[in-house]
Amino acid sequence: MSPRRHGDARKRTAFLRGFSVKLRVIRRRSVYKKVLRNSLLDEKRNSELAGLIWILHLDKYLTLLLRLMVLLGFPVCLSLACYAVTDLFLAREPTPGPSPAALVTVVPPTAALNATCPNLTADILDVARYGTTSGDGLGSAKNSEVEATYLVTYLVRGDRIGAANPESVPVEFLDERDDSAAHEAAWEYFTALIPADERSMLAAYVVITDGPQNILGAVSQIRTADRWALEIDIEDARDAHDLTYTLLHEFGHLLTLNEGQVPPSRAVFNNPDDDALFESEAAACLQYFPGEGCSNPGSYINKFYDQFWTGIHAEWLEIDLQEDQNAYEDQLGAFYRKYRDQFVSDYAVTSPAEDAAETWTYFVLDSKPDGDSIAEQKMLFFYEHPELVQLRTEILGNICESFPQ
Ligand SMILES: [Zn+2]
Repeated sequence: MSPRRHGDARKRTAFLRGFSVKLRVIRRRSVYKKVLRNSLLDEKRNSELAGLIWILHLDKYLTLLLRLMVLLGFPVCLSLACYAVTDLFLAREPTPGPSPAALVTVVPPTAALNATCPNLTADILDVARYGTTSGDGLGSAKNSEVEATYLVTYLVRGDRIGAANPESVPVEFLDERDDSAAHEAAWEYFTALIPADERSMLAAYVVITDGPQNILGAVSQIRTADRWALEIDIEDARDAHDLTYTLLHEFGHLLTLNEGQVPPSRAVFNNPDDDALFESEAAACLQYFPGEGCSNPGSYINKFYDQFWTGIHAEWLEIDLQEDQNAYEDQLGAFYRKYRDQFVSDYAVTSPAEDAAETWTYFVLDSKPDGDSIAEQKMLFFYEHPELVQLRTEILGNICESFPQ
């Protein structure tokens, strides 16, 4: 049994169909694991990788490539080889990761701060709850193993993204891959929403697609696990309501899982297939262990877990360890129905980390609740942190100002 099964792309569940067609992905470790395993079996790819490593001939870049291969999968790794080479020539200085202080930075008020647009934010939530597209495109066990196609990787430098590193993709994805205007628009919207200080952990922006719905976005650790990649399904970015919700959700992961909150376990990061190692790291952690590392005692995710998950975690974990996909979906659906008043959305039930990201998103978009239900108390949890209330105000102002028309 592995505790490493988190809410991710392969856990799209049939029970979700009746409630929502929105699925969001957090860590892609299990997906990447599969990619890595396949690549290790592929001798041609191995020889290509060996060639790259030989050409680069520097431990620093060799390590980068291997780690990116593990985290992003081999196709992305190949394109990021360009990144390593570019760095060789540009002598790029590493951008410092976010400090804990940066996470609680109170941003000075701006004109946009007081802006609210309750009709728009209500619409965004409605689209997230009920969807706008006619086809569901997901929800059955049959297609729950669909994986995204990586289209383009951009390196992130502050507000800007570098040149596109396109992948070789099947012909049906060429239009999406080459639509750089759409890629840039989604990125620019993200930077318009989220203050720069709060996204300094991002080092890559990856455009993916698996067609409409299914995976909408993801975040994943890269480099030495202290930096992150933001992945966006460009097909799902066409609807600005969907895109807004997805960007807020993914940012919720960055907010709660960055190294200032959860110091990354390099051992786990470097050995993603080592279940025994994972279990021993988790067992040694006195706080909540979301998978990336042992959370700090005062971290948002640890406090969130302590307050809302200790009573249900054992029951949830038993379901999460279920290896049979159909049984897993059935049991998780039953779990959700049993504890429905505890979750702001169906997807929140997939893991404590997803619950935190979903609740964060509702905290931003919804009005302040009374706290009658546990789900509402979870939203109030974020109100207990003044720096997050400040951040919410700023993001809301940014949504009102920058929402694509
Ligand atoms: Zn997520």
